[in-house]
Amino acid sequence: MFYRTFLIKYGEIGIKGKNRNVFEDALVDQIRRALGRLEGSFRVWKEQGRVIIDVEGEEDSYDYDELIEALQRVFGIVGICPVIKIPVAPQEELAREAVRFMGQTYGLSAGAEDAGPGEKISFKVHCRRANKNYPVTSMDVNAYVGEKLLEAYGSRLEVDVHKPQVMLYMEVRDEVYIYSQIIPGPGGMPVGTNGKAMLLLSGGIDSPVAGYMIAKRGVKIDAVYFHAPPYTSERAKQKVVDLAEIVARYSGPIRLHVVNFTDIQLAIYDKCPHDELTIIMRRYMMRIAEYFARKSNCQALITGESIGQVASQTIQSLVCTDEVCTMPVFRPVIGFDKQEIIDRSLKIGTYDISIQPFEDCCTIFVAKHPVTKPHLDIIQKSEKKLDDVIDGLMKEALETTELIEID
Ligand code: ATP
Ligand code: MG
Repeated sequence: MFYRTFLIKYGEIGIKGKNRNVFEDALVDQIRRALGRLEGSFRVWKEQGRVIIDVEGEEDSYDYDELIEALQRVFGIVGICPVIKIPVAPQEELAREAVRFMGQTYGLSAGAEDAGPGEKISFKVHCRRANKNYPVTSMDVNAYVGEKLLEAYGSRLEVDVHKPQVMLYMEVRDEVYIYSQIIPGPGGMPVGTNGKAMLLLSGGIDSPVAGYMIAKRGVKIDAVYFHAPPYTSERAKQKVVDLAEIVARYSGPIRLHVVNFTDIQLAIYDKCPHDELTIIMRRYMMRIAEYFARKSNCQALITGESIGQVASQTIQSLVCTDEVCTMPVFRPVIGFDKQEIIDRSLKIGTYDISIQPFEDCCTIFVAKHPVTKPHLDIIQKSEKKLDDVIDGLMKEALETTELIEID
């Protein structure tokens, strides 16, 4: 069946009053952005508690599967309903359309009674009268349309008001929308409704998932990647760009900052105790990430850290890392097991790229026996050993950072 119209449902919790408009406008924007990349032309507009997408053009002007897939990446969407839309009309006419819709959608035919009994499909009609000028109540429409459906396909349909296989929805608005399918959306909130944060994006499994999870709450994201040539290759950097591209399919454009981290890492390696390398390195990552976060008007940082995953992610280590940050650090996978993070990365489509075997700057400069319970005062003291060189190195790193716009 060719659908010309899609009705979009979104969660309504927490979006009362003035926020509602902001939320709806952002959702419309994000849907337009997602559809803008597809073949075909679409009109996206708001309608009392819903967003409507009208397909403009001929039957083959768009690809149904591609459209659904694109909408399933728009945060804020809870359900995608392919609908038929008809003008408001007396219930006799609505019933005729409902009969035609059920017939086409479920392969029922009007003469089915003569064809002998098959498996019956249980159904229920659910009318919603958003347009209070409509003269018949929802209850009456339900009963009337149900009756007409039984008259038409009595041998194939039966009513079940508790657990129907098919729920036939009829929403009476400025027009009438008929549908029976609600394809799940990703949920969350439209990107742009909750500020902006800077994602520390490595080539691993965890950080793309972390970025996805925060973007899902409506937060726009930018990213920073610490690159250590020649210890990390161009291929390792490309991997991060590829990951950012996948995250951007959900989050919208990402400005990826690629920081040349080699000299800072070498200096730490030269001057600081080797069992503290990772912690000190992470403190510099956070400082640099925060610098770019400020410059890009971000209000928080995001990492893919999870308690106890590695030595630098014990609680004591996280305390040492956090000490250099003045912005909140969001760690959405903090309580996840690795397998739970992997499951999510498979779902969002980053896993296959994340497991490509390209070295990461952290894996090259790791100590054999890193401290797992670092003391802040000791770390601070070790860091002092960098005093002579670090300002210059930081300046150099900030100035040579490459900006890649990912769309
Ligand atoms: P991931 O955690 O993304 O799977 P990883 O496990 O290799 O990568 P960890 O050593 O666990 O990375 O680092 C913890 C977090 O620190 C990462 O989730 C990421 O947010 C950040 N991070 C680590 N290395 C880098 C890097 N080279 N560039 C940017 N961020 C990084
Ligand atoms: Mg990790």
